[in-house]
Amino acid sequence: MQKVHEPDFIRPDDDLRFFTELPKPELHLHLDGSLDPTLALELARTRKVDAPRDWAGMRAALVAPERCVDQADLLRAFDLPIALLQDEEALERLADHVVRAKAAENVRYMELRWGPHLHTAKGLTQSQVIAAVARGARSAAAEVGVQVRLIVTALRSHSVDENRALAVAAVAAKDLGVVAFDLAGREAAFPDPLTFKDAFDVARSGGLAITLHAGEWGGAAQVRRALEVAPTRIAHGAVAVDDAALCEELIARGVVLDLCPSSNVQAAIVPGYGDFPILALHRRGVRVTLNTDDLIVSDLTLSEEYLRVRRRLGATVTELLALARTGYEVAFLKEAERRPLLAAFDAWVEERLAQ
Ligand SMILES: [Zn+2]
Repeated sequence: MQKVHEPDFIRPDDDLRFFTELPKPELHLHLDGSLDPTLALELARTRKVDAPRDWAGMRAALVAPERCVDQADLLRAFDLPIALLQDEEALERLADHVVRAKAAENVRYMELRWGPHLHTAKGLTQSQVIAAVARGARSAAAEVGVQVRLIVTALRSHSVDENRALAVAAVAAKDLGVVAFDLAGREAAFPDPLTFKDAFDVARSGGLAITLHAGEWGGAAQVRRALEVAPTRIAHGAVAVDDAALCEELIARGVVLDLCPSSNVQAAIVPGYGDFPILALHRRGVRVTLNTDDLIVSDLTLSEEYLRVRRRLGATVTELLALARTGYEVAFLKEAERRPLLAAFDAWVEERLAQ
């Protein structure tokens, strides 16, 4: 991609349109945090789940507060979606919805993640959950022309055996688009990712990429700890900025941080949006990507998150284009799959610069 000298091809009032039209990748997005209120209302009615009965009430129940006490508090926002998503049709429809919603703002490549074991409370197997999400994602992706891959997420609060079985199911679903294995959940209560070393080993030896959530509690030490499972990418991990040696290690190992500023503000990991260190990390040379985490829990589109980084953190358009390009560069894709996405992105940028 040619170097963009600080462009004047975009006026301030064009910013949101520019970022909406930008062909973006999104690498850190949770399925169950992206349940739209209309589908939630229908699921609550037809599945007889105790939930608000009107759209505004449902929306208020699905969007987490702008400021939670901590990560565990933010995670309570997932209880209702998970209660509503306990059958194959519900999971398939949600996956379809999320892919279409992202395509509508020109996300061209997405990695959709979720914890299949959370959806087994009413009898589905982990494999059935994975297959249902894959069906919904795949059919929508084919229609709207988006590339979708799936990341299977283990939960820190689940047992060693449950997460090991999940890794086996994830490996068996590679043909369905599963590309990586992840760990998420309450970090303060379950701080040690090596508890699940066995599950990570099964996933890795089965050909899946390894990522995990880290640094949502416990500061830079937790990001350092995450490196013990040798991930390719870390979900969050922004607090690494506080530890210069750790940043050097991330750079040396080429480990990427998939950052979500608004979500981290909600989880009280940073004092405010203006303190989020995405630009400090990027300028220091740590590879970072920009993502939303959740469509409804944070009530946020990816285009809006780009706009926030521009307006509230003062990122240049050049820097934001670099973050988007990094997303394609580090996506869990084969090189032959990555090349056309990068070429399309570069062509789009070049065309805009020529205008
Ligand atoms: Zn996440």
